[in-house]
Amino acid sequence: MFKANENYLKLPGSYLFSTVAKKQREYSAAHPDKKIIRLSIGDVTQPLAPAIIERLHSAVDEMAVAETFKGYAPDLGYEFLRNTIVKNDYIDHGVDISADEIFVSDGAKSDSANIQEIFAPESKIAVCDPVYPVYVDSNVMAGRTGTYDKETGLWSDVIYMPCLEENGFAPEFPKEEPDIIYLCFPNNPTGATISKAQLQEWVDYANKIGAVIVYDAAYEAYISEDDVPHSIYECEGARTCAIELRSFSKNAGFTGTRLGFTVVPKDLKDANGVALHGLWARRHGTKFNGAPYIVQAAGEAVYSEEGKAQTKAQIAYYMNNAKVIYDGLKAAGYSVSGGVNAPYIWLKTPDKMTSWEFFDYLLANANVVGTPGSGFGPSGEGYFRLTAFGTYENTVEAIERIKAL
Ligand SMILES: *Cc1c(COP(=O)(O)O)cnc(C)c1O
Repeated sequence: MFKANENYLKLPGSYLFSTVAKKQREYSAAHPDKKIIRLSIGDVTQPLAPAIIERLHSAVDEMAVAETFKGYAPDLGYEFLRNTIVKNDYIDHGVDISADEIFVSDGAKSDSANIQEIFAPESKIAVCDPVYPVYVDSNVMAGRTGTYDKETGLWSDVIYMPCLEENGFAPEFPKEEPDIIYLCFPNNPTGATISKAQLQEWVDYANKIGAVIVYDAAYEAYISEDDVPHSIYECEGARTCAIELRSFSKNAGFTGTRLGFTVVPKDLKDANGVALHGLWARRHGTKFNGAPYIVQAAGEAVYSEEGKAQTKAQIAYYMNNAKVIYDGLKAAGYSVSGGVNAPYIWLKTPDKMTSWEFFDYLLANANVVGTPGSGFGPSGEGYFRLTAFGTYENTVEAIERIKAL
């Protein structure tokens, strides 16, 4: 009789968003007259920008004509897109990355989950706490995380780097040496960033101990401050220790259209001199058959003059919401962070409420839904995430209600 992969059975089940949705549904059913505002949205809400839609249409038309029809895409992605990415995201910023180091994909979630495959099974991972759950869960599936402690919510073989108010929500070097370090800045869920100098310290640390950094830069387009790096390759020495994940989801609204890329520099080699570039190329070639041509064409349009202006305006809209939330909560006496370089606002729950107690309180008294910080890791307990992806009108109304509590 066949057996299921036991590693999957160890996963503690992701009740976070389903519990949020369930509680919201139950409240709505009991109070049909109340208008609930969701500041829990982890997805863009504005439609794709006109320049992107236009290119999608024309690319569809190309697929209808024998001469311009496209079948399988090249393994690494179309050259037109990789060249455009390299020019706009790297070369124009003085960063040394070449087009053949870019691997186009269907998004950063799958890449962030799959990248662990090219590392030895016994590799030790270090993650920020709280964190985007994909990093830990994908390593659980790979059998790399030891045993789960229900009480603490921690895995025995994972190195956790608590990100709390005390350390400005920035991780500190762990006591135990990791092999793989997951960093995500601007951060989901805390909205925190680290400066270029701080990231440089991580790059130096990784090079010194022979670790690799998996750098998730899905929110780089939301950065507004000058000393916050958009790419880890802005740091000296990152080519020998870092993999970077990028996504078109949050910067251009591709959450439903699917496009991302991963950068694996050719200088990144393991203890035996094995280049990870070749391994990821092999993995990509075997397990992935390319993002759709029409989507890659639309991705190129993100970098056109119109595309840049239009997506910038969308991000400005979300970031204006972020400011409304941040300023409003601050004025109401909350301890708040994030929201300056990220669409996420991270607040400390008042009166020592747990994250879920504050969730219930906010739902019942302000009819506002957010996301409990404890759902992102044990160190998220006592914190709460609000997002800027709603409409301006709803955001303003939600904050007015919270202020009136
Ligand atoms: C939204 C998000 C992504 C992007 O995922 P896609 O698969 O590209 O849509 C990646 N990392 C983090 C931390 C995110 O919040």
